[in-house]
Amino acid sequence: MAFEQQVTEDYLFKIVLIGDSAVGKSNLLARFARNEFYPNSKSTIGVEFQTQKVMIKGKEVKAQIWDTAGQERFRAVTSAYYRGAVGALLVYDVTRRKTFDSVARWLDELHTHSDMNVVTILVGNKSDLKGSREVATSEGKSLAEDRGLFFIETSALDSSNVGAAFQTVVREIYEILSRKVI
Ligand code: GDP
Ligand code: MG
Repeated sequence: MAFEQQVTEDYLFKIVLIGDSAVGKSNLLARFARNEFYPNSKSTIGVEFQTQKVMIKGKEVKAQIWDTAGQERFRAVTSAYYRGAVGALLVYDVTRRKTFDSVARWLDELHTHSDMNVVTILVGNKSDLKGSREVATSEGKSLAEDRGLFFIETSALDSSNVGAAFQTVVREIYEILSRKVI
């Protein structure tokens, strides 16, 4: 439903950031939308979103990217947060295995509250922290394959793959919609 609805509008895609507290969701968004990084970011309460233009095949697409803004600390991400989402970035921290172990729970929550077709990328963030890695790249990749997700490792600190993570989701949504229109 969400897909059909949005194709008739102006290519404004709702994308949600999910994943455990402190994995770097807010910083991925800050890096992508404003090229900023906060070494000691504190989560604030309440839902926030930011609209960002993305060029796909010469066409301007708008991604409305939602950040949990700390709700996840209390396991209190509401169904309103997910409503109408057509894309998701499910983020874990490669230096904290616990956040990787939570991925299945986040997928369940995502599928409970949104369309099964929501385009999802599994994102292993903090790839810059080479000395303290607890989750191997191959583990992330294989989980993503099992669950039919895209996969990427990023660093909001050194910017690596941040644009690619968001663009992968936006491009795939765009392609699904293009196919439906034809
Ligand atoms: P959120 O709770 O998922 O939104 O996580 P935040 O974006 O608030 O980040 C939590 C902490 O991790 C902050 O101290 C960030 O500075 C730090 N952080 C976020 N992304 C990275 C990253 O890619 N590399 C490193 N080294 N630290 C990061
Ligand atoms: Mg946050």
